[in-house]
Amino acid sequence: MPDYSIDVLVIGAGAAGLLAARDLARIGRRVAILEARARIGGRIHTFLEDGFTGPTEAGAEFIHGDAPLTRALLREAGAAWHSTAGRNYEVYAGQVRESVEFLADMPALLQQLHALPQDMPLADFLTCYFPGDEHATLRLQASQFAEGYNLADAARASAFALRDEWAGGGAEDSPRPTGGYRQLVELLRDQATAAGAVLYLDTPVRQLTWESGQVAAVSPTGQLFRARQALITVPVGVLQASAGTVGALSFQPELPELRAAARQLGFGAVIKVLLEFAPDFHRAAQPPLTQHLPELGFAFSDAPVPTWWSQLPDARPLLTGWLGGPAATYHQHTPDEDLLQLALESLAYVLGSTVAALREQLVAYCVVNWAADPWARGAYSYATVEAAAARQTLLTPVENTLFFAGEGVYEGPSTGTVEAALVSGQDAARRILQIGK
Ligand SMILES: Cc1cc2nc3c(=O)[nH]c(=O)nc-3n(C[C@H](O)[C@H](O)[C@H](O)COP(=O)(O)OP(=O)(O)OC[C@H]3O[C@@H](n4cnc5c(N)ncnc54)[C@H](O)[C@@H]3O)c2cc1C
Repeated sequence: MPDYSIDVLVIGAGAAGLLAARDLARIGRRVAILEARARIGGRIHTFLEDGFTGPTEAGAEFIHGDAPLTRALLREAGAAWHSTAGRNYEVYAGQVRESVEFLADMPALLQQLHALPQDMPLADFLTCYFPGDEHATLRLQASQFAEGYNLADAARASAFALRDEWAGGGAEDSPRPTGGYRQLVELLRDQATAAGAVLYLDTPVRQLTWESGQVAAVSPTGQLFRARQALITVPVGVLQASAGTVGALSFQPELPELRAAARQLGFGAVIKVLLEFAPDFHRAAQPPLTQHLPELGFAFSDAPVPTWWSQLPDARPLLTGWLGGPAATYHQHTPDEDLLQLALESLAYVLGSTVAALREQLVAYCVVNWAADPWARGAYSYATVEAAAARQTLLTPVENTLFFAGEGVYEGPSTGTVEAALVSGQDAARRILQIGK
């Protein structure tokens, strides 16, 4: 029997991997965390540089719903959170009006969803239960909400899962961690390494060789890692990637059933465009800028980059553009400069301004195209009608040797969130400990 110096190889240093590594190390397991990027956090990425004047979220930004584990860890990290503020607007066909709710017909939609006897894709549900011209707006808005917020393809998304999530009202009351989400993953990294876990950055795993009770991975520099078990926390997008694509992870021997299950999960794309403007942007009188939408909180529109938000109550002039779902997948290969131009055109339309005026005031920008990121290949998951069965397949340990975790395999109402990743990491550590050495 080979002498292993590692009990568990944790693949991925995002929220799920770091939490699992911490819990395993605290109980005495020898843990190595292999992370492809030069940084921890994965889809949590608060950055502080590149001309931006404060912490800026490239990935997760809000705390959706109760999120007890997220809030407990932020508290432990000494981080507070604060509610969003400002007024919300809708800009459709060039007409601006203040919007009260994210989705005006939500009560009618939820009532019908609760009466639905059997799960079906959202698109089928809308056609069946809200037919005809009189419901055209509801159908359009519900699909747009599912696509833009949940990143779901309405033709595949589970009506039951959306019902449970929308009933939770997570979108309505979503505070931000003050100072950014990075504090949470830095806390977990510090706790994991203090408990003895060893973190290897810049260490992508391209192939995991395994047999019952043994796993092995070789780093790009030729370092060999051998362990008894592996916990794989890479995003669903990486699991779905075909062999040979950049960022793909292969198993030796392959796991065709798990691969098929991963492809049954929904995984949506996001392009986030972060634009920081000159300090007096909100007050700029000529040409007219944000005073058109006083105290702008969120704006929803029919522009190519449809959703925008400010940092209020923080007056920092950072505006975030959000393009989610199938439209973001469509732009997966669009160059960043073109996406910036698209975003500026969209924002100019929303604010009743011009691209030239916006460019004049722009001091820093960042286009974050998550579908083009080889270590994410998308943003977060949504439940398809087949997702529950597919997740069960992925959650069943392979010969007590390979385990999967991460937001994509989380079971519960907080789909696609930091909370989902944390809960999944915690559960995975428990499963590994239950099985024993
Ligand atoms: C744009 C965006 C906005 C979001 N907004 C919110 C929000 O407001 N609120 C919220 O709660 N959630 C939000 N989320 C979702 C949240 O960020 C994720 O659900 C959560 O961070 C996922 O954590 P994870 O550990 O499961 O995966 P990840 O954070 O993706 O961690 C997986 C790790 O595996 C690494 N990896 C990948 N392939 C390999 C490999 N082959 N070898 C080694 N390492 C590898 C990756 O680099 C990564 O670090 C958002 C996500 C995105 C992208």
